[in-house]
Amino acid sequence: MESEKKDIRALSLEQLRAFFVAQGEQAFRGQQVYQWLWQKGTHDFGQMTNLSLATRQLLEKHFTINHIAIDGQQKSKDGTIKNAVRLHDDLIVESVLIPTESRTTACVSSQVGCSLDCSFCATAQLKRMRNLNPDEIYDQVKIMDQQSRLYHSRPLSNIVFMGMGEPLMNYNNVIAAIAKITDPQGLGMAPRRITLSTSGIPKLIRRLADEYPKFKLAVSLHSARQEVREQIMPFAKKFPLDILLEAMQYWYQKTSKPITFEYVVWQGINDTDRDIDALVAYCKRIPAKVNLIQYNSIGAARFQQASQSIVAKYQRILEKNGIVSTIRISRGADIDAACGQLANKKQ
Ligand code: SAH
Repeated sequence: MESEKKDIRALSLEQLRAFFVAQGEQAFRGQQVYQWLWQKGTHDFGQMTNLSLATRQLLEKHFTINHIAIDGQQKSKDGTIKNAVRLHDDLIVESVLIPTESRTTACVSSQVGCSLDCSFCATAQLKRMRNLNPDEIYDQVKIMDQQSRLYHSRPLSNIVFMGMGEPLMNYNNVIAAIAKITDPQGLGMAPRRITLSTSGIPKLIRRLADEYPKFKLAVSLHSARQEVREQIMPFAKKFPLDILLEAMQYWYQKTSKPITFEYVVWQGINDTDRDIDALVAYCKRIPAKVNLIQYNSIGAARFQQASQSIVAKYQRILEKNGIVSTIRISRGADIDAACGQLANKKQ
């Protein structure tokens, strides 16, 4: 039965080589198949033309090649493209290609739904169905690299794990996907062009620092006051700001890489001087840059973007204290493709 076969892309290169050896064939066949799967993106054993018919049939007998399919595409007036990505079990995630003058960034999903409960995020309102497999994450990137070449005549320049899901709650698969994205036999992308964004899970930030310090880390802070943060990100009760801070300090010790804080300013939530002072004090304890993100409405009355003058005040006071901040203009909001808006609305 089809479903009893294993997805061949769940196998590492070593496992593929071992499979061939166990079948009495030469190990380098594993290498060849790996290239077809990961470098050339082949979906069909029949296309693996440097293998004999018997070998292809052997693979056919043991494995399937699961792959994702683009089920729909929406294009924003600013050029952003949102892909609805259908997985082999018919679940859908979204991934977004964001072009600017000088770069094209792929925003990828790591889970179907999300494990966390940020009350300002549309994805959090979906049930977390499952983690994505490494190949499902890799394929989103591969497809957006092709789209970037097609629409913008250049390869992808950056990848951000800011789509659906909490990447650190799918740690192993995200890491396996990044390994393939950076592998010269996969997409060969430089790790420094990859940013993993997390809501801030201290234990896993430490693990990341120990194991994979080469890419960039962004943390969705949104408030440096514990009582405020846990109101808008209820899971943060389990991960208090001081414990999060220690984990980030550990990351910095290990990697020498500053962290980017993602921060939305909302009316009546984190728009007072006390909030700004708390952020300044927090940033003085860990080298960080603050990315002031525009709020993308998800229809909840409780959340309204603070006025421009408050955001400007944040910037002014951060700057006065020697803390770099940027304002991130929203992209793709007209098609619900902006941060926090990914919720499979079209489906
Ligand atoms: N789970 C990860 C990555 C996905 S969210 C994380 O939390 O970092 C990517 C970014 O969008 C996060 O910084 C998140 O806090 C922010 N975000 C969520 N909802 C948003 C909204 N409605 N408007 C603007 N940013 C939002």
